[in-house]
Amino acid sequence: MGKTVEDSPEKEKKKLGAAERDIVALGIAVAAIILFVGAAGMLMPQVVQAWLGEGEAPDLMLTNAVLLNIALLIFGWRRYNDLQREVAERRRAEESARLLAETDELTGCLNRRSGTPRIDANLLAARQTGRALAVFMIDLDNFKQINDLNGHQAGDQVLTVIAERLRDAVPKDAILARIGGDEFVCAFPHLADDRERVDQIASGVMKSIAAPIEVNGLFLEPTGSLGISSSCTSDDGESCPDADTLIHQADIAMYHAKKHGRDCHFWFEPQMEDELRFRNELESSIRRGIVQGEFVPFYEQQVDLETGEITGFEMLARWQSPRYGLVSPDVFIPIAEEIDLISELSECLIRQALKDAKGWDPRLTLSVNISPLQLRDPWFSQRLLHLLIESGFPAQRLEIEITESCLHENIGAVRTIVSSLKNQGIRISLDDFGTGYSSLAQLRSLPFDRLKIDRSYVAEMSREGGSSDLVEAIISLGKGLELPITAEGIEDANAVEMLRKLGHLKGQGYLYGHPEDGATTRKRLAELKLLSPTAEKPADDGEQGGDAEPGQRKAS
Ligand code: C2E
Ligand code: CA
Ligand code: CA
Repeated sequence: MGKTVEDSPEKEKKKLGAAERDIVALGIAVAAIILFVGAAGMLMPQVVQAWLGEGEAPDLMLTNAVLLNIALLIFGWRRYNDLQREVAERRRAEESARLLAETDELTGCLNRRSGTPRIDANLLAARQTGRALAVFMIDLDNFKQINDLNGHQAGDQVLTVIAERLRDAVPKDAILARIGGDEFVCAFPHLADDRERVDQIASGVMKSIAAPIEVNGLFLEPTGSLGISSSCTSDDGESCPDADTLIHQADIAMYHAKKHGRDCHFWFEPQMEDELRFRNELESSIRRGIVQGEFVPFYEQQVDLETGEITGFEMLARWQSPRYGLVSPDVFIPIAEEIDLISELSECLIRQALKDAKGWDPRLTLSVNISPLQLRDPWFSQRLLHLLIESGFPAQRLEIEITESCLHENIGAVRTIVSSLKNQGIRISLDDFGTGYSSLAQLRSLPFDRLKIDRSYVAEMSREGGSSDLVEAIISLGKGLELPITAEGIEDANAVEMLRKLGHLKGQGYLYGHPEDGATTRKRLAELKLLSPTAEKPADDGEQGGDAEPGQRKAS
């Protein structure tokens, strides 16, 4: 696919060497022919005269010289032929070595090494014909998951099929290279003012990727994210981006597509580079923040709606960043998940929360949110058990909250982890219930202890003219499944009144208070005489979350 690469100086040198050898061999053959013609020209009249009986026998030396010449001629000719064959073979071997070095073995596409010079060559060719060169960066979404869940062989199979589909979806004169595990680059010329055609090709590419692929009897449905950059058409080579720049820009646009829900394509725009820079800064600040203990647990009250008494707290992560201030988990949790730091971050937070909660009244529970990624770790329950042992916090007071999205990941693995957690005495809540797509069968087959109605339903119920139908439906579902219910996001007394009428529920929300840090929570509990009578007083060393005002310590 695409044009051949420009010949390198080294190859040029080799070609010249072979041509020189050809010329020398040919020169020897030609010289032998000339000698033969000369010597045979002198010998032949003597032979003819001797044959007619008109002269003496031909000169012996001359005869030998002619015979030698004939031998030399035959030898030279054969050598010339051998040489020709050798050179042709070497050329073939060199060509296949070059192809091998330039080709990605798995997919047959160009590889990272050969892709960029090809794009550069095509860039020049496109410019000479007044066209621009569009560069696509295509990255499969969740490819790691395909590999992890189905094995590397299945992953390879997916890549091979995708490469074939890409070849069909891009123009015939396009260059296609695989430049990373699941990253493909494609480049083709287009009319500078015809972005629509490029968009159409990009849509075709996305569609072709998304068709199901059968692997080991399973139908996988991969999606991809695509970024587009395009060169300029001017002849002024200086100001035009080269292949590396175009690939970099397409990569940034692809990254933007990933951030905007995946399975879509975006054109590169200069401000995306700033966004990416900010994002990289955030990533490194998060890495640093974990080491420096900037992530702290906050606590939101959970109450018995009937009595109004506090039954426990939900731990909600906060980032006290020296640079960005107090940051919400909606910002840093997805990044921590993406950079594979969620387990580390979550463990730091849970360790601190267990320490804080140990100082509370033993009747109070602690709920913690767990990312779906953590449930993919087969050692998750052991890690949690380790934290419980380390802190001496009773497993029966710990509740973990998992969201419905966990149930789509790998229900078998989730079931094993959930059962192991339950065996330790930890309780499990299904969080944000109603926002995902868990089936009744899943609800029945997993041993949940509680459903948490998502706050959007409670908000809808308390909205003027809003409906309580969905809240009622979820509550009766809970009754049917014998699962107690917590309503989230209670913001006004009216919502509490309505919920009370629907059953005996727990609730939480800003009506009862915003999430507070460990010290403030402790102070609140001290006022309510809800601190553990036996717990040690928090250390006075300024440790995060566990530190308290002198007045609070007296109360404990
Ligand atoms: P979530 O588990 O649904 O947590 C409840 C969120 O609703 C919290 O937002 C809380 O501050 C907010 N909220 C509580 N009451 C009200 C209310 O009356 N009205 C409104 N509008 N909102 C209310 P927050 O703290 O920003 O947490 C957002 C999400 O981040 C959480 O949703 C949870 O999914 C996730 N998250 C928080 N901490 C962690 C953590 O340690 N690990 C993981 N994996 N996720 C966490
Ligand atoms: Ca939650
Ligand atoms: Ca929730």
